[in-house]
Amino acid sequence: MVDLHGQYLKIRTEVDEAIQRVIDSTAFIKGKEVFLFQDELSAYTGAGHTIACGNGTDALQVAMMALEIKPGDEVITTPFTFISTIEVIKLLGMKPLLVDVEKGSFNMDPLLLRDVITERTKAIVPVHLFGQCAHMEPIMELAAEHGLFVIEDNAQAIGADYLFSDGSTRKAGTIGNVGTTSFFPSKNLGAYGDGGALFTNDQGLAEKISALVNHGMKQRYYYDYVGINSRLDTLQAAILRVKLKQLPAYHLARQQAALFYDEAFSGIAGLNIPERSPYSTHVFHQYTIRVPREARDPLKEWLAGKKIPSMVYYPVPLHLQHAYADLGYGAGDFPVAEKLSQEVLSLPMHTELDAEQLSYIAAEVRAFFKL
Ligand SMILES: *Cc1c(COP(=O)(O)O)cnc(C)c1O
Repeated sequence: MVDLHGQYLKIRTEVDEAIQRVIDSTAFIKGKEVFLFQDELSAYTGAGHTIACGNGTDALQVAMMALEIKPGDEVITTPFTFISTIEVIKLLGMKPLLVDVEKGSFNMDPLLLRDVITERTKAIVPVHLFGQCAHMEPIMELAAEHGLFVIEDNAQAIGADYLFSDGSTRKAGTIGNVGTTSFFPSKNLGAYGDGGALFTNDQGLAEKISALVNHGMKQRYYYDYVGINSRLDTLQAAILRVKLKQLPAYHLARQQAALFYDEAFSGIAGLNIPERSPYSTHVFHQYTIRVPREARDPLKEWLAGKKIPSMVYYPVPLHLQHAYADLGYGAGDFPVAEKLSQEVLSLPMHTELDAEQLSYIAAEVRAFFKL
């Protein structure tokens, strides 16, 4: 699905030097590379402030802590996302409310959102799934109308541009009160271990978040908040600085691979290529097709037989997961998410796919459909 070694070989000298520089400095925690990386990431995204942390799950948790969402408060997200999004809501004692997604974009359906909001709702967490922004403008409007916070889970769409109806654009993760991201190795901007970050344009919130990820400490050994220990290692920051410079080229490589797939699959009845939303660019964290339910697993097995990996993101929507049974949802509650979980298949998508690999994958997909 990814080729992190091939990607490393092209930046090996720079990465190796960066690692050696950190080891020589021995500033393993909160070293200067962390601050430089934060500044460079702010410059790239246009975020007012970037605060690095230990991983993308912690970033979501800290966002909710910083906004002082309390136990019993309701937080709305979707059933079609990675587990982290709902996990932190539950861990902090809040109540997750779910809203179904759109079939085409896989993202939160803003038209269904209004009916889910109650008196106890405090925040909305749209997820920019697979590399494309959720429809932020109507979500922000509803949030403003009801006085809700918006936390963008931007683990999969760093660098994607959201287009507002007035023609202006903003990068994913910088639109809501707080945005969060992950540097898990296979993400579009991946570290060589765990990492994450939060974005905000609110300086007071940024200061609080910086304290929260470091035990709630503002001045050394004086604690203003109950915090956690979630910092980005200096080694990871140094590696990420090298990779951030490559990110626009990485996105281009992914977009070109996606176009190749699009063309190769055009005209296959029963295969839906990923829809492009008119209000977002797509950075293709995943290239996810939809096929009829009865064809999905056989296609996956067919590809596996040809040594082509593919993955189902996600096979079971969150409301049907054991650990979340007590939320009281059941089968049929989120029909789009349920249908998607049976129809989606993500194909190999990364920065090192060459013409030969793409042709081979495309030919085998077409062969499955007897073309
Ligand atoms: C990867 C991911 C996360 C969590 O990131 P980690 O760094 O692995 O904790 C959260 N949300 C989404 C949508 C993700 O894809």
